[in-house]
Amino acid sequence: MDFSRFIHNRARAVDASGIRRVFDLAATLKNPINLSIGQPDFDVPEAVQDAAVDAIRSGQNRYTQTQGTGPLREKVAAELSREFPGTLGPALASGDAGLLMTSGVSGGLMLALMACVGPGDEVLIPDPYFVMYKHLVTLTGATAVFVDTYPDFAVTPERLAPHVTQRTKLLLFNTPSNPTGVRASAAQAAAVAGFCAEKNILLLSDEIYDVFAYGLEGAPFPSPLHTTADVLLLRGFSKTYGMTGWRLGYAAGPATIVEQMTKLQQYSFVCAPSMVQAAGVTALDTDMSAHVAAYAKKRDRVVERLSPHYELAAPGGAFYAFPQVPERLGMTASQFVEAAVAQNLLIIPGSVFSQRDTHFRLSYACDEAMLERGLDVLVGLAGG
Ligand code: PMP
Repeated sequence: MDFSRFIHNRARAVDASGIRRVFDLAATLKNPINLSIGQPDFDVPEAVQDAAVDAIRSGQNRYTQTQGTGPLREKVAAELSREFPGTLGPALASGDAGLLMTSGVSGGLMLALMACVGPGDEVLIPDPYFVMYKHLVTLTGATAVFVDTYPDFAVTPERLAPHVTQRTKLLLFNTPSNPTGVRASAAQAAAVAGFCAEKNILLLSDEIYDVFAYGLEGAPFPSPLHTTADVLLLRGFSKTYGMTGWRLGYAAGPATIVEQMTKLQQYSFVCAPSMVQAAGVTALDTDMSAHVAAYAKKRDRVVERLSPHYELAAPGGAFYAFPQVPERLGMTASQFVEAAVAQNLLIIPGSVFSQRDTHFRLSYACDEAMLERGLDVLVGLAGG
């Protein structure tokens, strides 16, 4: 049988060749200096592991309610209400906002896009972007409209405005950003919220790296939710607690939208994993500040060592940096990555996250020794 004839154009339209090339390159390396990893290098805290095991042992192994278990929902709602006392808090209390536990932020993204967009709709995606955005938008049949944010990677009304049409429906806003690590200021987040309200665009705020925000000095995390409750918020447990394989996140936002997402979850993911939801309650009580502080130090080290040799937008969060390949080298980022791979260093070319191929993503979610070795290679490649 020719099985390929069963494949729908929807699947064919997703082109994953860029990232596959990186995996192919990676496979050629024996013991690489791996600065390509998009997940924390620490493990799930022991208390959280114990909570998951206890949940399994005590029989919490069945479907949960689609929207999530009561204890986890209550805890998340309480935290959100404390963080956003003037917007999301009251909206959750009145029922104007809903809350849905999802299978990771990926699950939330899928449900949000399925619920809201399709053929004929345009989705604004600040470029560079998290790869999944482009592909999920393609899957829904909507059109991805890229908004160039080089060289500082700030998402601003001025940059967004020229791309707005009658068809624009949604903005995928991600701060701190994968792949740049750049974090919006409070003023920028507020400006984006105001812009979306004025233009009648749904603002989806992917805040999966919210805990990894450095140098805030006690200031609140710069979420557009400080400005308005009219935001679809997605947050996750994957990165914060080193549990990327456990698949837990949540969506909070306008009830009308979250209800539709909940309905779609019922007929697709069904629920977030039961034992992970149980452990999620414990996770929310776990202090991750030592890990965050360690990443802040690594961020400082990356900036200190690379800034003299590379154009680098200051990374304010996540665990990524996105330096520009020095123009004098006369290389595309893909060529530069090949040169790095030849020295056993694995990084990802900007073309995987962008319409441009001029920068590269490095992740400092690794131990200090490996980071230093990687930085040595990068300084060397820049001719430093
Ligand atoms: N959003 C962003 C910006 C990410 O970087 C990731 C993970 N790489 C996700 C969403 C998805 O994370 P998860 O599904 O594990 O929650």
